[in-house]
Amino acid sequence: MRWKASFLESEDLMEIFDSHTHINAPEFADDIPDVIQRASALDVTAMLVIAYDADSTAKMRKLVADFPEIYGAIGCHPEDAAAYDEKLERSFIYNLQQPKVCALGEIGLDYHCEVSHDLQQSVFAQQLKLAQRLQVPVSIHNRDAFEDVYRILRAGEVWKTGGIMHSFNGDAAWAQKFLALGMSLSYSGVSTFKNAGDVREAFLATPLDKVLVETDAPYLAPVPYRGKRNEPGYTRYTLEFLAQQRGLSAPELAQKTFENTKRILGI
Ligand SMILES: [Zn+2]
Repeated sequence: MRWKASFLESEDLMEIFDSHTHINAPEFADDIPDVIQRASALDVTAMLVIAYDADSTAKMRKLVADFPEIYGAIGCHPEDAAAYDEKLERSFIYNLQQPKVCALGEIGLDYHCEVSHDLQQSVFAQQLKLAQRLQVPVSIHNRDAFEDVYRILRAGEVWKTGGIMHSFNGDAAWAQKFLALGMSLSYSGVSTFKNAGDVREAFLATPLDKVLVETDAPYLAPVPYRGKRNEPGYTRYTLEFLAQQRGLSAPELAQKTFENTKRILGI
């Protein structure tokens, strides 16, 4: 046989799912079509676009309507916990009933920001309850708040809907704890940073059917673009880096993470 299967696998048929991106942010106001085209040229064909305010929700809804492989999520980020009220909750319910808007997020805790921890925790718990009521998976933001995020997810019986720890940046021990709650772990450009040895150990300890990849664009650009505006196409670099860490081909990890994302989002 002259053509090895691996040749075909590496050149063809790679599809990458960016499980957390904000191409609905002002940073992309001028060039969304180019960004989507560049992503597709790098085989990043599917995305979950996360809305976090009125403007980003309108843009998310348009993207979801215009592109078959773009899906949406909506939720109250912990930084905006003070804005959470019944009216906002009703708008989440409405949006989550629209086609292809399939996750509540990002929600969680951010102890790097000024908002009171009590308020963040209460809004996080309320949104977990909402996810249960609507039976939708959650996308979780966790910054410097591992203990409390874990406790609240556990109390919220998150395993009933499942969800994604977005841009997971804990060590292997934390990975095990969140996996035990039924969560999947999404790895971003952070895992390519020099000082992220802990995160790479967590990745190696995460079963393949629980691994996702993402950009969190416009933030967290992977090496070799660290410090620049991130964009969904760069998921490719994170994916290739992670595949190598694990002794897999990029198409193998792409396929696995693509399937995982679709399964978790129920799409
Ligand atoms: Zn985000």
